[in-house]
Amino acid sequence: MAKIGINIATGSLQQSEMIVGIDLGTTNSLVAIIHPETKLPTALKEFDGSSIVPSVVHFDSFGNVEVGEQAKPFLESDPQNTIFSAKRLMGKSHQDIRAHQDFFAYKIIDDNRDSLVKVQVGSTFYSPIDLSSYILAELKKRAEHILKTPVTKAVITVPAYFNDTQRQATRDAGKLAGLDVLRIINEPTAASLAYGLGMDPSEEKTIAVYDLGGGTFDISILKISNGLFEVLSTNGDTYLGGDDLDRAIIQYWMKQMGLDDLEDHKLLKQQLRLAAEKAKIVLSTQEFFETEFAGEKISITRQIFETLIEPIVQNTMDCCARAMKDAGLQIADINTVLMVGGSTRVPLVKKSVATFFNQEVNDSVNPDEVVALGAAVQADILAGNNQSMLLLDITPLSLGIETMGGLMDVLLPRNAKIPTQAARQYTTQKDAQTGINIAVYQGERDLVKDNRPLGAFTLKGIPSMPAGLPKVEVRFLINADGILQVSAKELRSGVSQTVDIKPQYGLTDEEVEQRLLDSLTNAKADISMRALVEARTEGEQMLSVTEKFMMKNAALLTKDEISLTASAMQALQLAITMEDKHLIQAKTEELNDISRPFAERVMDQAISGALKGKGIEDKDLQ
Ligand code: ADP
Ligand code: MG
Repeated sequence: MAKIGINIATGSLQQSEMIVGIDLGTTNSLVAIIHPETKLPTALKEFDGSSIVPSVVHFDSFGNVEVGEQAKPFLESDPQNTIFSAKRLMGKSHQDIRAHQDFFAYKIIDDNRDSLVKVQVGSTFYSPIDLSSYILAELKKRAEHILKTPVTKAVITVPAYFNDTQRQATRDAGKLAGLDVLRIINEPTAASLAYGLGMDPSEEKTIAVYDLGGGTFDISILKISNGLFEVLSTNGDTYLGGDDLDRAIIQYWMKQMGLDDLEDHKLLKQQLRLAAEKAKIVLSTQEFFETEFAGEKISITRQIFETLIEPIVQNTMDCCARAMKDAGLQIADINTVLMVGGSTRVPLVKKSVATFFNQEVNDSVNPDEVVALGAAVQADILAGNNQSMLLLDITPLSLGIETMGGLMDVLLPRNAKIPTQAARQYTTQKDAQTGINIAVYQGERDLVKDNRPLGAFTLKGIPSMPAGLPKVEVRFLINADGILQVSAKELRSGVSQTVDIKPQYGLTDEEVEQRLLDSLTNAKADISMRALVEARTEGEQMLSVTEKFMMKNAALLTKDEISLTASAMQALQLAITMEDKHLIQAKTEELNDISRPFAERVMDQAISGALKGKGIEDKDLQ
């Protein structure tokens, strides 16, 4: 497996299969590898010691693209042409981000064609995939420069709540940047790997990964056993992070100086923002910060800073409580707490997390690097150097298909571990039905109209059979990257079809949360709605069976019997149009009671007829 190559430029021996780990962050990105000599995960550093590349892309009017530190100053001086937080746009539609439109200083376009957002810079349109690929290309270039060898294979991390579209988009961005993305893994899983968790197969642990970055917050509860990683639950806030801490300081200082708006003073605004971030970082290790701004001395103490940010920190603790609840765990069940993301260096954050989980937190691995380091560990596993481990993740929302009456039939429940698969059998509703429509939905509600459509396809070419006879097996398969594949197969004939479900656009995690809330608040209504729909479906089936029977066997029935059946059918038909489940059930029952004796009699006659050799064809007996 381990191939050796010679680097032509340096003449040195190289491992030809260098797989790097990449943390493609909202604010900062970086690359790590397993050091060939020390065998330890190591972030790749420039000569100046910096490993972090700000996830910022600037386009100048000559078509030059700058990425990282060089692009950062343009955030204030040339905001229309400077893209930050492209990760937030991955796999999103305009609809998805509309509520946060003001957050982005650049121009976001709703492209109707595929309903995914694009960013307009000058007269050029860029997809979030393009933008992320610029960052990845820069990371690749740096890695090649530092390692002095081509880098073509990578493991890239994504938040645990990223859906299929977002994961696929990340993969595509890698491809565009010339990287073969061997695996997409969840950030909290990567962080655990960096802490060496799960390396010992006998180890059983439940861990909380608290990740507070520049603009996002994620809490994930993972379980490790037998060298397997399982995400039990995730929660967080995609618009809460270190930037909010900076803003708290900015607002405090502006109030101190009696300023209420700096919108028209771009340069001052930038200076103040930089000073605030500096203050925050200094206050992580010191009690006091002072600087000069527009000729005035401004300062802040750690104590005031902590008072300012207390509500923000509290918000993250609320998310932790929800994640714990979702995982069905008590605080005492958590064995280890990992701190991830630059903002966890803030002492109040550490203290609050430690208090919440009632234990010391683990912060020994550099929180800026820990995700990339873990990606490198995973890369090493994929390179075949460490085969004892496997990764499992979860589905954030239930996945299912639409069945009769618009009901959601769940194949994979929410928080199912992935990779995973599930299959169920369905059948046709009508005689000689040759196609069956498979519509895939995501969500917790009982009716598909309240859930999110992911995609649909039709299984065609089912041989003509009476209703209920075909056996259509629908199979959901989620691969290790969390991408859903749906296949349908008619088992009697073998006709089958498979599609990769690539939803048109993603859900924000607020929406995921909203959907979960909706499913709770509407649970009662959903249950009665489901019962009503089921009663209606059953009633309709009864009607169609009876109708068919009457058409074929009218000659064998008396006039009274026919009119009795007809009026029972009418009564049921009417009941179905109403909202009363009990009425529908009662009328179905009545019709059944009336028609059953006729059916039995006709059956007897048919059998005796057949015995006499007259024959009534089988198919007339339904
Ligand atoms: P992301 O994962 O979102 O890309 P990072 O994990 O790199 O982000 O975190 C970036 C954030 O961490 C920024 O808001 C930055 O100001 C903050 N940060 C970095 N160092 C410190 C520090 N010493 N104290 C407080 N905050 C810090
Ligand atoms: Mg991060």
